[in-house]
Amino acid sequence: MFCKNCGKEIDDKAEICPNCGVRVKGSSGAGDAPSAGFGVLGFFFPLIGLILYLVWKSDFPLKARSCGKGALIGVIVYVAFVILYVVAIFGIAGCIVASGGGY
Ligand SMILES: [Zn+2]
Repeated sequence: MFCKNCGKEIDDKAEICPNCGVRVKGSSGAGDAPSAGFGVLGFFFPLIGLILYLVWKSDFPLKARSCGKGALIGVIVYVAFVILYVVAIFGIAGCIVASGGGY
């Protein structure tokens, strides 16, 4: 059979690909495929995406990667929004102090 991760031909009885180290349980992909749905889920719920990533990492590496990627993007976007929010708040506060400071 062929490794579903790197495509290299490996022993049918091998549980882990000797080339890339990914688990290749069974000859079928066992329902493992990159999933945009789980990516979106990970994006909106990074914590769930992270948990799914850790749970599926060994058995469903492609699905896990979708979750992980979505969660990572979600976290980056979230952090970016928080930074923008803080900058905006401080910017507005700074303007109020600057304009109404001297009676
Ligand atoms: Zn491999």
